Amino acid sequence: MENIQAFKRLMDSPRSVVVVTHFKPDADALGSSLGLAGYLRKKGHRVTVVTPSDYPSFLAWMPGNREVIAVSKDDPRPLEAAKAAMQSADLIFCLDFSNLKRTEDLADTIRGSKATKVLIDHHLEPEKFADFEQWTVASASTAGLVYQLIKELGEEDLVDADIANCLYAGLMTDTGGFRHSNTTRMEFMLASELVGRGADPSCVAKLIYDNNSLERLRLTGFVLAQKLQVLPEYRTAYMVLSADELRQFGSQTGDTEGLVNYGLSISNIRLSVLLYERKTEIKYSFRSLGDFSVNELARRHFEGGGHKNAAGGTFKGSLADALKKFLDLLPEYRAKLNS
Ligand code: 5GP
Ligand code: MN
Repeated sequence: MENIQAFKRLMDSPRSVVVVTHFKPDADALGSSLGLAGYLRKKGHRVTVVTPSDYPSFLAWMPGNREVIAVSKDDPRPLEAAKAAMQSADLIFCLDFSNLKRTEDLADTIRGSKATKVLIDHHLEPEKFADFEQWTVASASTAGLVYQLIKELGEEDLVDADIANCLYAGLMTDTGGFRHSNTTRMEFMLASELVGRGADPSCVAKLIYDNNSLERLRLTGFVLAQKLQVLPEYRTAYMVLSADELRQFGSQTGDTEGLVNYGLSISNIRLSVLLYERKTEIKYSFRSLGDFSVNELARRHFEGGGHKNAAGGTFKGSLADALKKFLDLLPEYRAKLNS
């Protein structure tokens, strides 16, 4: 962090803090938020963790989960409580997103709040709204950036097993289990330090990867057998899931996570896309290999963004139109996809 001394001075007295992450948080979003919250509480700050939506049940084991205020479309109370906490906060920490739009119904409250804003993130092209930034795309995970910030403050001894497990979960998942191209020596060094502070790799892996409902596994089988399409001329794989199909498999938040990666596991495929229907929009999940930037694709055409090789976007309209929009773009990218 650039102005770390000023930040340190600010954090030297007990503060009222809100930690917020993005809509439909994944393990890095929630793990970095709860890891940071655990540390801040140990420092004597009053901390409220807010998520703009619910999140997968395979993240509910994270210490601090029970105190999270999760905004819900069905109940206005969490949104009101989240807004109230933000309006009276001294500081708002924004974790694992680069664009306030990703906090959905909370964006205006965050923007309008008088609180000091701190961005901790690793996505491309961040929006400039924060007073303090712990930001770099060189980090595979936001959880790693939280740990590095705690180290910059000289307080890594406060990181206990609960905090370490939350942060390790973010690091493990955002590197795809230490497999993606963002996995560098630094990621292994961070992992080693977190394990040294009590993180349990096998336990966290089990809780996140091998904690499926039977319905989720059946959904995966259905997608692989019947929904996965391949366009060899564009080295592209795609899958489309309607709300009806998701309902048929009793799908819960998080059940579609990871499906898109199967497309990239096919040899010669460079771009994989999952489209699925959400309540009010169509969601795209993009993954690529090598130099093909899905961040650029998502930004230019799908009101989204993310990282070079993992990004997301949205579309307002029907699932068929959302697919058509994507397929119609492929000829333009043909050369890039085959280079
Ligand atoms: P996923 O496909 O797993 O939902 O997301 C892949 C990456 O893209 C994550 O880093 C996520 O934060 C980011 N991402 C997903 N959806 C969006 C979106 O709608 N807008 C932006 N800017 N980023 C997104
Ligand atoms: Mn992340």
